[in-house]
Amino acid sequence: MAEIKLTDLTKSYGPTEVLHHVEGEIKDGEFIVIVGPSGCGKSTLLRMVAGLETVTSGEIAIAGRRVNELEPSKRDIAMVFQNYALYPHMSVRENMAYGLKIRKLSKAEINQRVEEAADILEIRQYLDRKPRQLSGGQRQRVAMGRAIVRDPQVFLFDEPLSNLDAKLRVQMRLEIRKLQQRLGVTSIYVTHDQVEAMTLGDRLMVLNGGYVEQFGTPIELYDRP
Ligand code: ADP
Ligand code: ADP
Repeated sequence: MAEIKLTDLTKSYGPTEVLHHVEGEIKDGEFIVIVGPSGCGKSTLLRMVAGLETVTSGEIAIAGRRVNELEPSKRDIAMVFQNYALYPHMSVRENMAYGLKIRKLSKAEINQRVEEAADILEIRQYLDRKPRQLSGGQRQRVAMGRAIVRDPQVFLFDEPLSNLDAKLRVQMRLEIRKLQQRLGVTSIYVTHDQVEAMTLGDRLMVLNGGYVEQFGTPIELYDRP
């Protein structure tokens, strides 16, 4: 668990600045949703926190440590993507265990973490299946399982539900929220869907054209007279 601080964060691709002087403090255990129209810079911001994009200027600190100076592999972050990014040739169990094997955890520890996560996500009966033998919702649970087993300080979600049908999207939204509350892990969730943002977020960071327009609770942002 960790607080995250964004200070005067700017991102340019070549001559084009796509994020301008982003500021924000995210509290330990908070669930923040970054919301805004396509192209406003949501993914870029999330990817910078993940260490998948360089920072042009400014600073990102997680638990007081400047992350733009840390190797991505040293950042204690797990990301869940919309396309699941599961390995098709591996079973669910192998998919969930993979990142832990690389970190050289013992077999017993890996099995314990995988089975605990599988119980939380109710996918224990699918552990020996391949991703193609699962529904979209089940695959998304596996993708979350892979993030949970890492026991990270921070979860990052990049439009994780946008490939699911509307009904499943609503159901998984509630599940993600419950899961995050149960685990208490500081989370940043990117979506272009305002309803999703309001349902999920403790606070919403509203981005537009690379600027932070608003940053507050759903009530502060939408219930003003
Ligand atoms: P969002 O996630 O809100 O849709 P992005 O962060 O993907 O927005 O993109 C923000 C802006 O940066 C857009 O104008 C996009 O075209 C541009 N952009 C994103 N990635 C790159 C890249 N690798 N090279 C150049 N421009 C990019
Ligand atoms: P390690 O556990 O040593 O980071 P991994 O193979 O799990 O090794 O990860 C390799 C790289 O990919 C690291 O930069 C790690 O942060 C990143 N990574 C792996 N899995 C995820 C994930 N679920 N979300 C975000 N980043 C991940």
